[in-house]
Amino acid sequence: MKHLLSIEDVSREDVERICARAAAFSENQQREIKKVPALRGRTVLNLFYEASTRTRSSFELAAKRLSADVVNFSASGSSTEKGESLKDTVQTLSAHRPDAIVVRCPWAGAPALVAEWTDAAIINAGDGKHEHPTQALLDIYTLTRRLGSLDGVKIWVVGDVLHSRVARSNILGFQKMGAQVTVAGPPTLLPRDIEAMGVEVRYSLDDLHEADVVYALRMQNERMQQAYLPSMREYASLFQIDERRLGARSLLMHPGPVNRGVELSDGVVDCPQSLILEQVAAGVVVRMAVLFELLAASRAFDPVPEHQSA
Ligand code: ASP
Repeated sequence: MKHLLSIEDVSREDVERICARAAAFSENQQREIKKVPALRGRTVLNLFYEASTRTRSSFELAAKRLSADVVNFSASGSSTEKGESLKDTVQTLSAHRPDAIVVRCPWAGAPALVAEWTDAAIINAGDGKHEHPTQALLDIYTLTRRLGSLDGVKIWVVGDVLHSRVARSNILGFQKMGAQVTVAGPPTLLPRDIEAMGVEVRYSLDDLHEADVVYALRMQNERMQQAYLPSMREYASLFQIDERRLGARSLLMHPGPVNRGVELSDGVVDCPQSLILEQVAAGVVVRMAVLFELLAASRAFDPVPEHQSA
């Protein structure tokens, strides 16, 4: 695997290998010294054009725990504010010869363009409404640690599917691992052709107790250019996951950041069924496994990189 641009780039076997490696890294994370030398001498560039708490900190930590050098670039405070284009920024930063570039941006498809402008391995860390493949991988990892396998597991993805890159990557990822996915939300927040993804569609939470896993999505207000709902209050009254709606045996997930009181009630965020903090912890080891996969594993038999031979 050269890049990770979409969850469609990885096969079920790739996911299983990445999860197994993440599990091995996680054992190491219990030790006093958490660093391993796997990527010593390599450089990882974090290129962030959008706000991020979990993804950014976990990519930075992942690279550092693998002993890579890390350069963090964020659009604010950079020459982007002076009008430098994405292409010029990538080409300028590529002069530092990064081995991997982690890209988060509001433009769907931009990471694939970045891959054409540099020799580095590109990891999509969220591009607009399009995809967030490492979120899908860390969620699959979190669930398989709990449930063993996702074959036949019933997962309900609830809320603002229309504006969510997490929904897209996770639906594809969960299905790849054998889960049965249902999406639920108000009709205005579900894409019109969503059935084509092989999911069941529900416009109410009446049958939510059927779910083995409830995956709640954040209301993506920043991507809404018009009113999709009469009010947040009405949304919460019909679609908020609360103690009453969450089945006693259902696990609860959310990619963060949570809007408490909108998609989740305060009480369920911290309830014993909630895996939200496990998802955050999984973020580091899964991103370590992805960096390892792209920078070490696939090049293990390539001691002399192409550009240095002949
Ligand atoms: N953190 C996730 C993302 O960047 C989910 C969210 O923001 O709702 O897409």
